[in-house]
Amino acid sequence: MINLTRERNEMPQQDSAVRCSNFGEVALGFTQADAIREAMRCLNCRKKPCTTGCPVGMHIPAFIAKVAEGDFEGAYEEISIVSCLPAVCGRVCAQEIQCEQQCVHAENGEAVGIGRLERFVADYHAAHCAATTEIAAKPSGKRVAVIGSGPAGIACAGDLAKLGYAVTIFERMQVAGGILCYGIPEFCLPNEVVDREISALRAEGVELVTGAGVDAGRTVDSLFADGFAAVFVGNGAEVPMEMHIPGEELSGVYNANDYLTQINLNRDELPSAYRQCKRAVIVGCGNVAIDAARCARRMGAEVTIVYRRTLAESPARLEEIHHAQEEDIAFRLLTNPVAFIGENGKLTGVKCVQMALGEPDESGRRRPVEISGSEFVIPADTVVLSIGTSFSDDITANTEGVSTGKRGGIDVDDCGATSRPGVFAGGDAVTGPATVVAAMGAGKRAAAGIHQYLSKK
Ligand SMILES: Cc1cc2nc3c(=O)[nH]c(=O)nc-3n(C[C@H](O)[C@H](O)[C@H](O)COP(=O)(O)OP(=O)(O)OC[C@H]3O[C@@H](n4cnc5c(N)ncnc54)[C@H](O)[C@@H]3O)c2cc1C
Ligand code: SF4
Repeated sequence: MINLTRERNEMPQQDSAVRCSNFGEVALGFTQADAIREAMRCLNCRKKPCTTGCPVGMHIPAFIAKVAEGDFEGAYEEISIVSCLPAVCGRVCAQEIQCEQQCVHAENGEAVGIGRLERFVADYHAAHCAATTEIAAKPSGKRVAVIGSGPAGIACAGDLAKLGYAVTIFERMQVAGGILCYGIPEFCLPNEVVDREISALRAEGVELVTGAGVDAGRTVDSLFADGFAAVFVGNGAEVPMEMHIPGEELSGVYNANDYLTQINLNRDELPSAYRQCKRAVIVGCGNVAIDAARCARRMGAEVTIVYRRTLAESPARLEEIHHAQEEDIAFRLLTNPVAFIGENGKLTGVKCVQMALGEPDESGRRRPVEISGSEFVIPADTVVLSIGTSFSDDITANTEGVSTGKRGGIDVDDCGATSRPGVFAGGDAVTGPATVVAAMGAGKRAAAGIHQYLSKK
């Protein structure tokens, strides 16, 4: 029976006053009854527009139909045909601008909660079903090296293992998962959820070596010399950008990568400045900035986000902005820092100017223009810079024949093949900072490209 309600089922969540002092998940997940009710809103449309909005082409109505029948494990199997990270994607994908935006319900009401259902199914599977060891296809006898264990590397490795390749992931950090683990905070995506999905990858036979960077020591060439028949590069784009304004060297000024990594991986042994922080200013207004702001709030600070444009131009998910507002994080929009001020080497404030929006720039967004004489100071003991990241040349500088674009992203064709035969790439390392599901899609395309390449050899 179809549920004709225009509004989707609410996601239960932790109260905003309580959650500001803990790192527990904000969204608590659907109950079985919520999930069935929500799934019954799906019309099983003939043209399946939602599926065209999914970058990995998930069979959305098919899995939702199983949820509506109460066959949650059947729904998990449907999702698993294309996704090895459903509990992750169900939590962090921007469904509102992808599958859910295409849902016919969105025309006159609220889209089916596809992401919420995906998360429910993945969590149900984890709670109720014993881990299974998938039997891979007949071994191909060929080995593939994957550099980086972020979503691009994980998706590529998972698909190759299913095709019978012996896959080894080389990860420079001591933990696996990339940004999923050390970037995105636990109140959005618990590390335990990432570990769970990575364990499933190991169960498929993928070998994961951590603390094993590929750079000037272990190179792409040495991987080929060690017997790998192809290499996938999924090392992300995580070099933080700087503002190049006075005072950036003061103690108390952090980049978002370092700040979030400390909080995600080292919360029990944080530097004292993190916990003693009273007033934090976060520069930028993307997902990373919002995450940093919400972490600083949980450290007990009064937090202000400073952004040179308006919320309409912010690339952050609307849901995350709402969560930040509920957590009493202040937004000073059309405001840009011009200097960090300090005493005895320690940050005491941020000198800002007021901005106005001018003509559109190359990104299509209206360019912020400084209003002269509008300087003012926001007192602060902590600043977290979240103004973007760029490409590392760890791998490209040490590998002959892999061409890059002007900004340093690796050039690839539609199958993820680089200019050097046998070397493939995908995810942020190619596009620059993007999304989890885009990186997964690139990893999957590259796995298909590697299979095609190795099948001919
Ligand atoms: C704080 C934060 C919040 C985000 N929030 C969201 C969100 O809510 N939703 C969303 O869709 N996207 C979000 N993103 C973006 C998303 O996480 C990335 O687009 C995605 O993780 C990119 O995947 P990737 O596999 O290409 O790279 P990464 O996830 O960056 O993984 C690259 C991996 O390669 C490893 N590595 C790097 N160099 C080497 C080397 N030389 N040798 C070996 N290993 C190496 C790294 O340690 C890392 O594990 C967020 C990003 C950040 C930073
Ligand atoms: S577009 Fe919406 S209603 Fe139609 S099949 Fe997809 S999820 Fe169901």
